[in-house]
Amino acid sequence: MKNISIIGSTGSIGTQTLEIVRANDDLNVVALAAGSNVSLLEKQAREFKPDIIAIWDEDKAKELKTALSEFNIRIVSGMDGLIEVATYISADILVTAIVGMIGLRPTIEAIKAGKDIALANKETLVTAGHLIMPLASEKNVRILPVDSEHSAIFQCLHGEENNKISRLLITASGGPFRGKTREELESVTLEDALKHPNWSMGKKITVDSATMVNKGLEVIEARWLFDVQPADIEVVVQPQSIIHSMVEFADGGIKAQLGTPDMKLPIQYALYYPERRNLAGDRLDFATLNGIIIDKPDKNVFKGLDFAYNALECGGSMPTVFNAANERAVALFIAGRIRFLEIYDVIEMCMKKHRIIDNPSLEDIIETEKNTYELINSRYN
Ligand code: NDP
Repeated sequence: MKNISIIGSTGSIGTQTLEIVRANDDLNVVALAAGSNVSLLEKQAREFKPDIIAIWDEDKAKELKTALSEFNIRIVSGMDGLIEVATYISADILVTAIVGMIGLRPTIEAIKAGKDIALANKETLVTAGHLIMPLASEKNVRILPVDSEHSAIFQCLHGEENNKISRLLITASGGPFRGKTREELESVTLEDALKHPNWSMGKKITVDSATMVNKGLEVIEARWLFDVQPADIEVVVQPQSIIHSMVEFADGGIKAQLGTPDMKLPIQYALYYPERRNLAGDRLDFATLNGIIIDKPDKNVFKGLDFAYNALECGGSMPTVFNAANERAVALFIAGRIRFLEIYDVIEMCMKKHRIIDNPSLEDIIETEKNTYELINSRYN
């Protein structure tokens, strides 16, 4: 039996993780956490009967306590509650399905407590890869990628431990606006941005796919996960999302991982690594494919990638600024306060104004995030 904690259990990754648990008798949920969705947490609690649940908001915690009064489930709230769930004593593995930099502290504490991490929350490595990877290796904890591209690379690297990577090829679908010009993007709406051609995901990451900031965040994540220099990470556009990513080795041989776009595969691979279990769902049918397209990203229109490489080159606290500025800019776009292309303007303005802190501590990272938010608030209030 493998005991699992999930932070962000009510979201896209969280609910798909629970689908996998539902299909496998040897997985057991011991701890759950979410932001504010009391009704779904209540349903999840009734079905999976965890020992402990964290909900961010204190009032919502009271509401949940009342709703679950017939169960012996500990209900906690705030950052302390989130950390309690992340480090829960009987958990073998923590799934970080929470969105945003709020996932950073619970993940660090879980690593310190010796929990393996099935990592979906990309903000963790983007902002603190230089802290997380050495800590995980010191604590002998496995960081198992859930992001489909990183899982693909991880799968390609299985059995290749002694071979040098010469290049990582991260695939991008190009999102809903692939092929569009800057002029055409002037007037796109939130509804347009949320129409992802292949993947069904949370709102924030779907907008990030449309700007290609998501791909930029993935480049930074890959740099830390696989210890590869930015110059050796290339992004290619694969509009059908069938090739999930590739690795080129020293002899020029390239390994790719393919499949239908379904996040349950990488989630399940992380939960059972290195074992492969049966997974219900569609299989790739090559007979119905009209070829596999591979293209170059249009960096002039979709600036998210260049910002990411620039943030990596600057190093230190700059990736945190890139991430935090994007997080706030996307929230403004979702709220209808700025236009789609202004997301790039907000990120660019914050990165230009930032004075880099080398080798930032967790406190520096949190402070940098706060300062970035304040700068944006002062301009967009
Ligand atoms: P969603 O927006 O669908 O879900 C976010 C989850 O985080 C929800 O459960 C939400 O709870 C919870 N949450 C938000 N704020 C808090 C808080 N303060 N305390 C506790 N829980 C909180 O996001 P996704 O599932 O799409 O993405 C999650 C992470 O995984 C992101 O970092 C994303 O980049 C990454 N990822 C996602 C992929 C996908 O296919 N969706 C693919 C690869 C990576 P509530 O519902 O109550 O608000």
